[in-house]
Amino acid sequence: MIACLGRIVHDSDAESKLDDDVSTIFNSLNLQGSIENGDVSGIASKDFGGLYSVKPLYLIRPSGAEDISRVVKAAAGTPHQTVAARGNGHSINGQAMADGGYVIDMRSTGENHFNLLTVNGSPCIDVSGGALWEDVLRRCVSRFGLAPRSWTDYLSLTVGGTLSNAGVSGQAFRYGPQTSNVTELEVVTGKGDITVCSETQNPELFFGALGGLGQFGIITRARVKLQPAPDMVRWIRVVYAEFEEFTRDAEFLVSQKEDESFDYVEGFVFCNNDDPVNGWPSVQLNPDQEFNPAHLPQTAGPVLYCLELAVHYRNSDQPSTVDMAVSRLVGGLGFVDGLISQVDVSYMGFLLRVKRAEQDAKANGVWDNPHPWLNLFVSKSDIVDFDRTVFKKMVKNGIGGPMLIYPLLRSKWDSRTSVALPEGEIFYIVALLRFAPKGPSVEKKVAENREIVKWCIKEGLDFKLYLPHYRAKEDWKRHFGNQWTRLEKRKANFDPMAILAPGQRIFKRTNQ
Ligand code: FAD
Repeated sequence: MIACLGRIVHDSDAESKLDDDVSTIFNSLNLQGSIENGDVSGIASKDFGGLYSVKPLYLIRPSGAEDISRVVKAAAGTPHQTVAARGNGHSINGQAMADGGYVIDMRSTGENHFNLLTVNGSPCIDVSGGALWEDVLRRCVSRFGLAPRSWTDYLSLTVGGTLSNAGVSGQAFRYGPQTSNVTELEVVTGKGDITVCSETQNPELFFGALGGLGQFGIITRARVKLQPAPDMVRWIRVVYAEFEEFTRDAEFLVSQKEDESFDYVEGFVFCNNDDPVNGWPSVQLNPDQEFNPAHLPQTAGPVLYCLELAVHYRNSDQPSTVDMAVSRLVGGLGFVDGLISQVDVSYMGFLLRVKRAEQDAKANGVWDNPHPWLNLFVSKSDIVDFDRTVFKKMVKNGIGGPMLIYPLLRSKWDSRTSVALPEGEIFYIVALLRFAPKGPSVEKKVAENREIVKWCIKEGLDFKLYLPHYRAKEDWKRHFGNQWTRLEKRKANFDPMAILAPGQRIFKRTNQ
């Protein structure tokens, strides 16, 4: 049966016979889910970035790990087929695509699993790799009053998609990235084996798959740590004119003990003008608290900095207790007097804040524009240089979207995972989240990103791309540095024919 798949794939008339072939393949694979022809305009040929498009051969909607295993084994029986797991396709650079290969739509497995359990006295939830984090949130909070500890800002991303990268947000300084908050995975390897792995059981596969860019296996189930969910969040923004003061406070906050700091710490750069997207209005949390630039010192430059903070609380907490806790924390900070904005929102409302931005952007017709995004991790030792050159010069007029910057702690990341990080204990995530109208300006924005990366390399900055995308093997080797040999070994062990995640362009499919 699998041989039949190879024949079909290599038939030069394949296009004309595709409909017949689809049913032949469906039968030969004995799929419980479904399969359809790849389509240049279908979901598997696009992603959120809107920069690349390729035509897959087939789009498969599996019912679970068994289906995925069959597809991978079928691909292995051919000389050149590849398989890409597609989470929610929110990559920027075609990472979830397979040119002429099989794309597995993990969303069809989103409802699988969802079992609450207690491991060593702590609550955990088993969820599908294809589940959206927003669904995990809604179900965990509404059914159990519990929630995962570490998030991404935006939750219409799949569990498997973010775990294949890292998954970071304003809780990561305390709990580490999402990859530090799972205790067990079920993975379909590049050999088609369905394997359960954890720190103690098949640890090489477990740590390899976490941050592994989909190179070693397709995550079909993850066991995620939970904690009691708060009811409410005090969401606060404070503004700085000086980068040194912003970073001093940000680094202080992420280094404090749990009960002596905020529950969430992020930050962003914005333009010192009244532009509605890039400037002062982008800071406002509450329409009643308008940004008053008269508070800014004369020395303020072309860009300003905002720390975004949050304190969790319960409905049963006295308002005065919450106010006192917030005042104590905010009181120690050196932001510009008068430039503070705050609002109380439900915990779910806080975590779903980018969903509301998505709805607005969809209504304005800009959500589907191309997104030439650049995400970097930059070491604390180089962040002042980065600010001086990139924020204060290269992007000082804004990028038509958020420019995030906040510190993270390397000690909260497990060095056994596949994620590549800068050397220092404190490093910053920098995210240039550009929304570009379709047309020639997109190429320009991509070129600007390239310039920034080239500058980082030329100046010898201690940095890594987050959600990396390189084309040349040399660049990948530089990215992984002394982890490259480990990565190659893991690839040889778990996906020796380089069938998986071809859109990352790290390894070429082999026939051995
Ligand atoms: P896809 O884009 O579909 O896939 C990404 C990669 O993972 C591909 O190589 C794919 O083959 C592989 N993959 C997918 N599913 C699996 C699986 N089950 N097993 C193995 N490999 C798999 N990231 C953050 O860390 N923090 C943020 O706050 C954040 N905010 C974002 C906001 C928006 C609006 C967007 C578009 C992205 C954001 N991201 C953020 C980036 C996001 O984490 C990555 O783009 C992630 O890969 C997207 O998840 P996805 O489910 O769409 O994965």
